[in-house]
Amino acid sequence: MDNQSQLVRIAAEIAKCEKCSLSKTRINTVPGSGNPEADILFVGEAPGQKEDESGIPFCGAAGKFLDEMIASIGLSRDDVFIANTLKCRPPENRDPEDSEKAACRPYLDRQVETIKPKLIVCLGRHSVANFMPGAGGISKLHGKAVRRPSGQVYLALYHPAAALHNGGLRSTLMEDFAKIPAILKKIKAEKAKKVEAIDEVKQEQQHLL
Ligand code: URA
Repeated sequence: MDNQSQLVRIAAEIAKCEKCSLSKTRINTVPGSGNPEADILFVGEAPGQKEDESGIPFCGAAGKFLDEMIASIGLSRDDVFIANTLKCRPPENRDPEDSEKAACRPYLDRQVETIKPKLIVCLGRHSVANFMPGAGGISKLHGKAVRRPSGQVYLALYHPAAALHNGGLRSTLMEDFAKIPAILKKIKAEKAKKVEAIDEVKQEQQHLL
């Protein structure tokens, strides 16, 4: 099954999900959207009011800021995939609960397995804690690319909503965001080197035969 069909299947399962009590208060599920073959997957916290009403991730003020930052590195929403830790809005935009994160995690994991992004950008502390438990807080981790034992590379960034009304955080977030192209370039170069090394081993093996 191609990535697009697989993502549609996951979204259909999310639409019917009743694994936690957020299913009782949501208007729409917000599975995520974007390029099924994206190199970069952005993962935020949870849908807010606008997202709950529309089913589209990051479509409010924080989303507009995210769009501007994505444009600043020469990309658009169609180039990347945008999702959230939780697929349903917590009432009054309260923090996600551990049980809700655990219930929603399999959907996010399946999205990651499908898209196979080269880089996962964690937006905000909940996304950071979800993907990098025990690694430290966002004030320590932000702006540094980390390769986890799984091989997946993550970049922690401050949440655009937190940075909207805080000038200091805003400039830190924009500086960190500007590192994305170089990080991606490095990941691609490392992958190419690995493929080259594998090809060399294969050639040597052929010589031995
Ligand atoms: N904040 C998030 O974390 N996600 C959204 O989709 C919108 C706001």
